[in-house]
Amino acid sequence: MWKLGVLCLAAYFSFNVEAGTTTQKPINDNCTSAGYCYDNDCELPACRCSGEDPTYDPDYDVKKYPQILYLTYDDAFTAIAEKDFYSGLFDGTFKNPDGNAIRATHFLCASYTDYKLVNKYWRELGHEMASHSITHKTDQNYWRGINADGWENEALGMRKMITQFANIPANEIKGFRAPYLQMGGDEMYLALSRSGFQYDCSWVSRDYGYQHLDQGLYPYTMDYDSVQDCEIGPCPTCSYPGFWVQPMLDLEDNWFESNPLHPDWGQPCSMLDGCIFIDEQTPEAARDMLLRNFNKTYNGNRAPFGLYMHAAWFFGEATWHYEGYKMFLEEITKMGDVWIVPISEGIDYYANFANKTNEEIIALGDASPFALTPKLTDRASHVCDEIEPCSYIVENDDIHKEERYMTICGKVAQGRQSCPKEYPWLTSPCGGNRPCA
Ligand SMILES: [Zn+2]
Repeated sequence: MWKLGVLCLAAYFSFNVEAGTTTQKPINDNCTSAGYCYDNDCELPACRCSGEDPTYDPDYDVKKYPQILYLTYDDAFTAIAEKDFYSGLFDGTFKNPDGNAIRATHFLCASYTDYKLVNKYWRELGHEMASHSITHKTDQNYWRGINADGWENEALGMRKMITQFANIPANEIKGFRAPYLQMGGDEMYLALSRSGFQYDCSWVSRDYGYQHLDQGLYPYTMDYDSVQDCEIGPCPTCSYPGFWVQPMLDLEDNWFESNPLHPDWGQPCSMLDGCIFIDEQTPEAARDMLLRNFNKTYNGNRAPFGLYMHAAWFFGEATWHYEGYKMFLEEITKMGDVWIVPISEGIDYYANFANKTNEEIIALGDASPFALTPKLTDRASHVCDEIEPCSYIVENDDIHKEERYMTICGKVAQGRQSCPKEYPWLTSPCGGNRPCA
């Protein structure tokens, strides 16, 4: 299955060279262009310059500060991935320095997502749910060509679906990731910022990852110009005050001797699915590759480190992926200053707690950005009330006479709901149910 990821990567690299073709009229032509970021004009918590790195201060002792690590899973949240993989990762086997179970961010799209489980992981385990579009169309030109309205239908539409069918308040769905990491430049960022999203995590970087993970790029806001390299354009040029980017820093895989100039280097990979292991395909090889990359960051400037993947990376013959991943987690959760938390909590740390050392964060207890108990207390009333799975034979622009099931919550906000009459999709994300989130 991991070959699929490689194909996707190959596909978007080949599209990379063309400038954006537009199939819809751009509506962000008159934006305020992003200017140079001067420290004095950009202050936390609302603004953070890109490229700002606390370790440039010679008095900053980076070893005292937490290392934040993100685990993310894209596309459908399915019962089989939950049973076979997520349950073994998030049942408390692996713990953060405060003794609570590690937690992840799930970038969801519409097909095959089990909203009952989405509710459970958010409400009972404190995971973050985020939007990854409704349709997840495979055509990169679609994503390159849609304007802000098109992006809004996809990104905000998916947020509505999560709110409607998993009973999660809209303001809890803060993040977005573009399908195939194919960014839509200013049209995409306009849509996200005006729809009330807090951050994007689609923007990959080789210059601040790969061979340079020791000098990784910290999250920043888009008030001013970004220093980040633009690998999969179009990249934005306008200002989006207060809107955050969590950069995706490339890892280095185990495809050594593929580059004649640097035979001891592997290839860069943005998602784990695209990382290649040429010789040894064992749990130890997977663990060691993850540790090698992680240690560059941990012993470097400690910018947030991410392992981004699809659950497909765990499926099939390659059980060594999952075993190696768990061996890696076992290793790093012993260290006492590595926090495996949702992306929105990592951003909260850099926005509101950035001067706090690891010891101080632990001492904050329930006031810490990573505290779990207050979040679970807030979420407790958003119960799911499962109903019988809804079933459809779907015929729309993207799905042709296929059978689809949907497991949804029978509750939305204060009211009740039953299965929507039509299969929820781009033009009708609530499927006709009212009130619609
Ligand atoms: Zn995806």
